[in-house]
Amino acid sequence: MSSNWIEVCLAESSRSSEPSFGDARSRVLQATDIVQLISQTVALKRAGRNYIGLCPFHQEKTPSFNVNPSKQYFRCFGCKASGTAFDFVMLRDRVEFIDAMKTLAAAANIELPRHGVSKEKTGEKQLLLEAHSAAASVFEKYLADPQIGAAAREYLEKRGFEASAIQAFQIGLVPDGWDNLIRHPLMKKYPPALLATAGLAKTRDTGDGHYDVFRNRLIFPIRDENARIIAFGGRKMREEDNPKYLNSPETPLFSKSRCVFGLDLARKRIVETRTVAIVEGYTDVVMAHQYGCTNVVATLGTAMKEQHLTVLRRFADRIVLLFDADAAGDSAVDRAVELFLIHPVEIAIATMPDGLDPDEFLMKFGADAFDALLANAADALTYKWKQVMSRLKDNEGLTARQEAVENYFAPIAAATKSGKVDSIRWGAIRLRMEKHTGLTANEINQRFRKEQTKPKFGQPRTPAEVAADEPSQPVRRKGPPNAQDRAEQWILGILLNEPNRWQKVQQDVRLGDFQDADRRELAVRLWDHQRHEGETVLNEFLGFLERPELVELAIDLSQQAEQLTEIEQTLKDATEHLKRAQNKLEERQLVADLRRSPDQPGEKVDEVDLLRQLQERARKPDLKRV
Ligand SMILES: [Zn+2]
Repeated sequence: MSSNWIEVCLAESSRSSEPSFGDARSRVLQATDIVQLISQTVALKRAGRNYIGLCPFHQEKTPSFNVNPSKQYFRCFGCKASGTAFDFVMLRDRVEFIDAMKTLAAAANIELPRHGVSKEKTGEKQLLLEAHSAAASVFEKYLADPQIGAAAREYLEKRGFEASAIQAFQIGLVPDGWDNLIRHPLMKKYPPALLATAGLAKTRDTGDGHYDVFRNRLIFPIRDENARIIAFGGRKMREEDNPKYLNSPETPLFSKSRCVFGLDLARKRIVETRTVAIVEGYTDVVMAHQYGCTNVVATLGTAMKEQHLTVLRRFADRIVLLFDADAAGDSAVDRAVELFLIHPVEIAIATMPDGLDPDEFLMKFGADAFDALLANAADALTYKWKQVMSRLKDNEGLTARQEAVENYFAPIAAATKSGKVDSIRWGAIRLRMEKHTGLTANEINQRFRKEQTKPKFGQPRTPAEVAADEPSQPVRRKGPPNAQDRAEQWILGILLNEPNRWQKVQQDVRLGDFQDADRRELAVRLWDHQRHEGETVLNEFLGFLERPELVELAIDLSQQAEQLTEIEQTLKDATEHLKRAQNKLEERQLVADLRRSPDQPGEKVDEVDLLRQLQERARKPDLKRV
């Protein structure tokens, strides 16, 4: 990673006699605080001398992304991304070094030597960003124009928008006409073909010339989390126009399934409250911010997607979907339930009371009531349960109730079948299901076992049958964990997370090696599941465990093992520890047998045999056991 930009710089300096480029680079780095820079996109927590957070460059549940403030570098132990502030911006914005340098220089108010940032070196992305920025100022000018903007300003005022909000969101206008934007003097620098790539112009059907995409609309610039305009949304000004809201098409800058409106302004409060609310339209976002509820964003004409979650999870632990009263349709709720099950983030749903829109709600009840609405929002699963139950009221037959329960289970089944249900959540989710439905853990297990594939060969042996093969009675030991405990814990935890390691591990570890009773039982069940049903999917496996204590233990061990960074080595150490412990145990057993033997005359052969065994052990301590 780091060599990348070094090469660029070396190439730069060799081509040029201008020495100031390297100086500028150092000045930019010196003026940039990497912790502050990264905090704009990642919620960082102090951990000793460093900061840690969830890596923005790969999916993870536990933070492995480290920022070192004294050395001013970042490093992810998960995906190995690392480097300086330049590297971070290059990865974050997917730009070349030169553009990362420009970004950081601008942020630090440092003027770069012309040579280093010449137009030819500025990528297409940079040009598109500039075109968007220019277009936004054109739209703002139209809205501010005494004549052209009068009707639109009146509309905004009637809707309750304040001047400060209009300015903060850079709301603009494009009047009626085919080429108000592309013919505007401010856009002279940008050829129509470029504007077409930017999603601002279209080619005429006749093939000669271009026309504006946005015509006669109120314009809401869509900015990325770093406040750069990457697209536009336009609300119609004339009743008969369609659609009501029009967004930029997908462009090299803009993907609507990844982008959320208002994130740049919302980011600060989202990080502070660890909560983000998602509403349905730009106007709701602007109004919420105007009232001080600034942790509010909107998806752009699409339901929440996994990519949105990936973006938002970096800032928030809790995502509240705010639906208009009638809009929380079955499919939207089911989708929320699925995402809630699959992703380690709390997804809650709130609906507006009394058929109000969020902006009407704010005007009527104010910001505190809005915050309370978010705080009291039910998690998606609970919301789903309430929804199916509320429909039962006038139709309470047993069949209807059964149907309602099936309806409730449907998205859960879909999510578990996808095999992506977050293992750590499954225990908690099952508890919620028990609470909602009144079914027992066993009944719920049965219900979800039906969703799973049948065992591939033969009937699984009962745990008792498997355990009968194994020596030494397990114990239930109290007190802080010792080396033996840790070895057993790591092995089980790692196998739960990475079942593909089982084949190898089971050659070295016997079920009898687990000395703790609960862990022995868990190991027995795991070995059994692996032998008869193939590689374990954790949440499916949990469904097979009847005892809640075992479920809890499995989740706990899996979670502990997720913190491990050196899995291979830990597994090796733990396996070796168990081997040594078992050897010692067997040796003690042999010695005890030897001690007993003098009392039993006529068994000399056995005694010699035992001695020989002890000697062999001493010679080959690591002999592979059968
Ligand atoms: Zn990473």
